[in-house]
Amino acid sequence: MLIEAVTVFPEYFEPLRLSLIGKAIESGLIDVRIHDLRDFTHDRHRTVDDTPYGGGAGMVMKPEPWGEVLDDIASRVQTIELQPQPTLIFTTPAGTPFAQSAADELATHEHIVFACGRYEGIDQRVIEWARAHFDVREYSLGDYVLNGGEVAALAMSEAIVRLIPGVIGNPESLIEESHAATSDGLLEYPVYTKPATWRGLDVPEVLLSGHHGEVAKWRRARSEALTAERRPDLLP
Ligand code: SAM
Repeated sequence: MLIEAVTVFPEYFEPLRLSLIGKAIESGLIDVRIHDLRDFTHDRHRTVDDTPYGGGAGMVMKPEPWGEVLDDIASRVQTIELQPQPTLIFTTPAGTPFAQSAADELATHEHIVFACGRYEGIDQRVIEWARAHFDVREYSLGDYVLNGGEVAALAMSEAIVRLIPGVIGNPESLIEESHAATSDGLLEYPVYTKPATWRGLDVPEVLLSGHHGEVAKWRRARSEALTAERRPDLLP
């Protein structure tokens, strides 16, 4: 998979080089290209924003540099022989909430581009224009407002990339997770490791019993209780 991101803060994406995603880059499972939007400006100040039509507070990202960087990305698509239209994700608090189901689907894509907004967001015409050249999505990380789309793009990238076969050492660990399609909508049960007693707190007896059936029953019950308490909206 090729992941590209357009941003005015390329340094934000350095953490992608760490941990399991870093290893996935090293092993060639994914390739990451970060584009500085200011490289697609032509004035001395490398301006990417301007005042909003209609008035109001804040600044809006100008369409011209976005058009140029997206042209540049689109022009290279044929030469890298990927899906016919790259998926272009605009990160926005006004987007569809990003969920595990979206990560599952996007993990099968070959080419994903993140557009990271700043200020009051990107001139709407960029999104409209892009629909002719990209498979455009608008996703929100959650019901709150960040200063920019970089953190959202990082979080979404990690959720997607860890699902690519070979990225996580033991693929079994993806099966019984909170929000996994295979988990019946249940949150994951609490987990424990050695020692069996720590600061006067014991690991639940059943987990030491070696009875797989009993362990599975206990985990299911804990998952159901936790989901009912914290996220009743997820229960079937
Ligand atoms: N004025 C916009 C609004 O009210 O919808 C918010 C702009 S926000 C300050 C600047 C940029 O941060 C957005 O263009 C978007 O790229 C990103 N952003 C902020 N919150 C986000 C969220 N919850 N999910 C995804 N991206 C977000």
